[in-house]
Amino acid sequence: MPLLFNLRHLERQTVTLSGELPLSELDLDGIDELIHAKSPLQHDLVVERHERSVLVQGRLELKLDCECVRCLKRFEYRLTFDSWSCLVPLEGEDKVLISNDCVDLTPYVREDIVLAFPQHPLCEPECRGLPKPEIGKAKKGGSAGPIERPSAWAELDKLKLKRF
Ligand SMILES: [Zn+2]
Repeated sequence: MPLLFNLRHLERQTVTLSGELPLSELDLDGIDELIHAKSPLQHDLVVERHERSVLVQGRLELKLDCECVRCLKRFEYRLTFDSWSCLVPLEGEDKVLISNDCVDLTPYVREDIVLAFPQHPLCEPECRGLPKPEIGKAKKGGSAGPIERPSAWAELDKLKLKRF
């Protein structure tokens, strides 16, 4: 079931849309390879008719399965809009497509969800990432540096000694 409402039902009263929107309707796959939607979108919306538009307000919630960009651990990310609102124009250039008196809110919801996707998903803000053996080696090499330098000086001293 898409996220539809009938304009005729709005003529005298507001309409409440609450329930779940299947992921197949949202089509979120392939937007970000680190982020996958897990469960249907929970929505609890009130639709109100204005003169030239329709105002939709309410709550949206979607659970995402994310992969941490630093340590690759999978974790759940809850995307919540506690006071989502959207003005759907019924006239003008941006007017919504109306078919059989029905308006589909899915594109509006989808757009805001995609915009709210975490840009750099982290399992926790302080995630230090995977322990990298390369970095450990580099540190050892770094500490070995000062030891090598005196030996280089020693070599130089030997050359000097030979000269004298
Ligand atoms: Zn992490």
